[in-house]
This record gives sequence, structure tokens and C-alpha cells, in this order.
Amino acid sequence: MTNSEFEQVVDEDQGAEEELSFESMKLDEPIVKALGEMGFEKPTPIQTRTYESVMAGRDVIAMAQTGTGKTAAFGIPLVHKVDPERRDVFALILTPTRELALQVTREVSQIGRHRGVRTAAIYGGASFTNQVKEIQSGVQIIAGTPGRVLDHIRRGTIRFEKLGVVVLDEADEMLSMGFEKEISEIIDGLPKKKQMLLFSATIPDDIRRLSSRYMGQADVISVSGDEVAAKDVTHYMYLVSGTNRPVDLVRVIEAERPESSLVFCNTRDETQTVARYLKKAGYNAAWINSDLSQNDREKVMSSIREGKIDFLVATDVAARGIDVSHLSHVINYAFPESLEGYIHRTGRTGRAGRAGVAVSLVTPQDIGNLYYLRLTYKLDLVERTLPKEETIRRKIELERIDQLRDRFGDASVGEFYGLAARVMHDAYAMKIVAGLLEEFFEGAEIEEQSLEAIDVIGIPKEVDEELEGEEIVTPVHLEAEPIAEEEVEPERSEVPIEAAHEPEEAELETAPVDGGDEAQAGREDEGEENEIYVDAGRKDGLRISHLMKEIVRLTGLPRTSLGRVRMLTRSTFIQVSDEHFDKVLDAVAKIEFHGRALKAEPAQQP
Ligand code: AMP
Repeated sequence: MTNSEFEQVVDEDQGAEEELSFESMKLDEPIVKALGEMGFEKPTPIQTRTYESVMAGRDVIAMAQTGTGKTAAFGIPLVHKVDPERRDVFALILTPTRELALQVTREVSQIGRHRGVRTAAIYGGASFTNQVKEIQSGVQIIAGTPGRVLDHIRRGTIRFEKLGVVVLDEADEMLSMGFEKEISEIIDGLPKKKQMLLFSATIPDDIRRLSSRYMGQADVISVSGDEVAAKDVTHYMYLVSGTNRPVDLVRVIEAERPESSLVFCNTRDETQTVARYLKKAGYNAAWINSDLSQNDREKVMSSIREGKIDFLVATDVAARGIDVSHLSHVINYAFPESLEGYIHRTGRTGRAGRAGVAVSLVTPQDIGNLYYLRLTYKLDLVERTLPKEETIRRKIELERIDQLRDRFGDASVGEFYGLAARVMHDAYAMKIVAGLLEEFFEGAEIEEQSLEAIDVIGIPKEVDEELEGEEIVTPVHLEAEPIAEEEVEPERSEVPIEAAHEPEEAELETAPVDGGDEAQAGREDEGEENEIYVDAGRKDGLRISHLMKEIVRLTGLPRTSLGRVRMLTRSTFIQVSDEHFDKVLDAVAKIEFHGRALKAEPAQQP
């Protein structure tokens, strides 16, 4: 059966039930009370349409996606059917991710709170023993991920002899994540006589296969048209010319400042280009499309789970299998080719109870689609305009002044106070200060190679300055992300390298001490400086500014008590006087970087 045939079945289904209210559903009073407390005034279309079939005990295939109220669509009848007096598992809900398992458990337990229904979330990565205890305490509804549920079944720690209903939630996601085998093994072990409910945003072939294998005559239900639109999502659009999309994308990101985002492209090639561009612009971006091997795909997915990737650039197909529940935005770099595509993409955000935001770059060619989107789905995208370059520059400058105040506002300037006063009155004052600022911001924060690369591809200067100023958190180097040759080529810094630890790898970044060369020279004369070796460098995503900030925070020493810092590709050397050596060594070893403590030790003397 094709998706459009599904829609037709749906259409037949619409009608009489439309008027249902929670009261007319003849639900138990405690459920109605709970729904009232949850702020649910009337059932959503998917709840209305699935209700009778589920209550009548029939198998159901429901095409519905996040935002339609699908969880309560099975949650409400399940809670109604449970006998709270019993202590065995009555319903099992399989979900693709732990986040969804938790979310479902939360919602179902809220619905069942006045009915004494007990629920548990069972997912990997959490304590097995605690889960066993929880199950043994007598839960009636379990929501879990296939892998962990199967583990419990194999170990005999969950028993499903009395199971009445199994729900496959986001079935298409589960299958595209490769859970088909686990799901089959789980279902094969369940009682033959049970009700099965399958909820899925789309019905691809593998879902059809699964449903025909395990479900008899199922009622096929869907919500179509305007009801599908994810209601918790705010939709914005930016009109762009389409001639320089990557630049426009960065500007949109700068304007919207999403914490994290799924960026949709229409072609596989585009995903790579866009991800590379974002990386060069200083964002933690990765791409995913069907060209990526399973292994690399898993690496990307685990980076996403660990929150290391803020911008995932994907095609529609590739994005389907991934858990992106923590991503705050969906950005349509290219407007989807179909309206359904728009609905599917934007439904990816606003999960886990969070309000999501969908942002589209819209070219004059897409206007027609926008019109149909409004007509068909009653979706009105709010138009926003890109800030003018002048506005961006002003914003960056004000932010930088804040940064400088934070850094130097309380500093005791000592011997340089007089010099500062002289500089201010010098004929070259502006140039000198501009030069110092350039060294401060560009020397410490940004990778020279990315600046160069950005220049080549032409991010407006203003934008790249802002990116750089923003880069306080250290980005990650993602192994899975294929990197073009020119990106990995080390670059030489203009700052002279001292011979002491000249390794095979080229020096990439050095930062002079505050106070410049004079102060540096002073310390070198003392001949009391030693170096600390740190086991991470620029390629690992470490930044001198970040490292220094942490050392200053942990030791309480002024920045001036630290000497020259040389950052190489995979290591960093910090010059420190004997007096502070141990203190700084201890501090560095306490700095957490990408989930581990940095390793610090005295550098080998040549
Ligand atoms: P879901 O599609 O299950 O992810 O639900 C989307 C959001 O809608 C969740 O925040 C639900 O709590 C909420 N919701 C579900 N049903 C209703 C309803 N009948 N009235 C109001 N909100 C609802």
C-alpha cells in the first residue's frame, strides 16, 4: 500500500467521530481529571480517530507524527484498559530512543496518575538493577527501547505472559535505526493473543513488511492536511536571493542564534558543502546522508547524542533515523520539494515538550510552495529580515567591549598604566589600539586556517568577526566528518617558534603573554621558566583562550603569571615560572575537555 492509498483510507475514516470530546469518550473519571490537569481540553484528531479502534481491541496502524498528540492517542486508551489492581505488565510501548521512552512514560503516567497506573521507562545506558527493581515492584505499562527490553526478556527480568497490548511508537524511526531484528524477537516472544498498535510518521516498505507479518486486519488511520502540522513549532522564513545560500545561512544562524539545529538540504552533495562551510565558519557541524557508511553514521549519531554536534546537515532520507530530540531548530537550507516534506522536516523539532522553531531560507522560486503550504496546512510562516551588516557589526563590537571589560576591568595594570596613558595620546593611538585588539581577538581565538578559508569562500568580514568573538566553547573535531585535504594541512604561525620543543608537527597557534614582548623578555631573562605539556591541541578543538581562562579560574593566578603558550595540532606547551609550576600543573589536570580530564605533565627538556 502506498502512502497516498493510506491517505485515502484515512479520508474514509473522517467524519462522525470528529465531534468527540473527552467526556463523550466515556473515560474513567480519574483519567478525565488527569487530562484536565494536563491542560488537554479536547482530543486531537489522531486521538479521536484512533480511540474507537483501540478501545475495541483492534490492531491499528496510525500515520501520525510528533506534535499530533499521538502519545496520548495510545496513552489514554491504554490507561483506561489497565487493571490497576494487577501487578503484571499489561502494555509494552517500544520507542526508538531513550528520550522518547522517557517522554512517553512521563505522559502516560500523568494520564494514569489518579488511576493508580504504574509505568516504567526501560532503556539502555541506565542501571539494569534499578530497572529490575522497578519492574518487580509491579508496573503495568512499560515504555522502552528495543535493545534494553530484549536484554530484560533474555535475562528473564521482564515477563510478558499477561501482556495485552504492544505499541510500536515511531516505528519508521525504529526500523531506520536498525531495530527490526530486536523488534521481531520481542514480538515473537509475546503472547499470540494481543492487540498491536503501530504509530509511524511514514509507512515505508519495511513498516509494511512488519505490519503484514505481525498484524492481522488492522485499522489504518491517519491525520491529514492541516491537522498534521506540528503545533508546538514556530515557523519563520527569510527571503533570500538563492545566489549565495551558504553566506545567507550563516547570517540566518547569526540572527536566530539556535543552540543547535538540523539543517536540511535537498541533495547529498549539498549536505557536505554546507557542513564544511559551517565548520569553516566555526560551528560544530557534521553532515549525514545516505553516502555515509553505517559506521560513520553511528559516529555522527553518537556525537549528536553527546551534544558535540550543534549543526547536523542532512538530507530528508538520512535524517529520518536519527534522534534529534534535543535540537532546538530545524533549518531549511533548501526549501523542501513537497509540502509533506516541509511538515515532516519541521515535525522533527519541538519534541520532548520543548517549543521548536523551524526556519526556512526562501527564494523567489519557493513562493508558490509557501502559498500552498498556507492553503493546504493552514501554516503561515512568519517573515523575518536579516539584520543589516552595520547592525551585526555594532552588535559584535558591543559584545567585544563586554569581553574586554570582563577580562581587564578588574586587572591591576601596574607598570603599563603609564604606557597606556601615553598610547592614548599618541598620534597613532587608533592604529596601535586596533593592532592590539586584532592580536587579542584573532591571535587567541580563531584558527588562522579557518579565517583564510572563510576569506576564500567569502563570509562577510562582519560575520566572521562575530563568529570568532563568540567562540568561547571549544568545538570538537569529529572523526566521522570527512575533512577535505586542505583543512587538515597544518599551518605555520607567524609568531616565531622557540627551538626548545620544536616537534615534527608544525606550530599552529601561539599567544603572547599579556603585556607583550617586554614582559615576555623579562621572564625569559630570569631563566626560571619551564613548560607544561598538555595532551590536546588545536586539532582536538582546544583554544588557548579557553585553556588560559580555565587555568586563571582554577589557580586564581593572574594571566600575566603564565608565559608563552604554544598550541600544536595535538598538544600544547605552557611556559610557567617554577614558582607556579605545580599549581598550574594541577589545575590543567583538572580541566575537563570533551568529557575527560586533560593530561598535563612537565615537558621534556631538549
Ligand atoms: P505528541 O504528538 O504525542 O508528541 O504530543 C505533542 C504535544 O501535544 C505534547 O506536548 C502533548 O502533551 C500535547 N497534547 C497531546 N494531546 C493533547 C490534547 N488533547 N490537548 C492538548 N495538548 C495535547
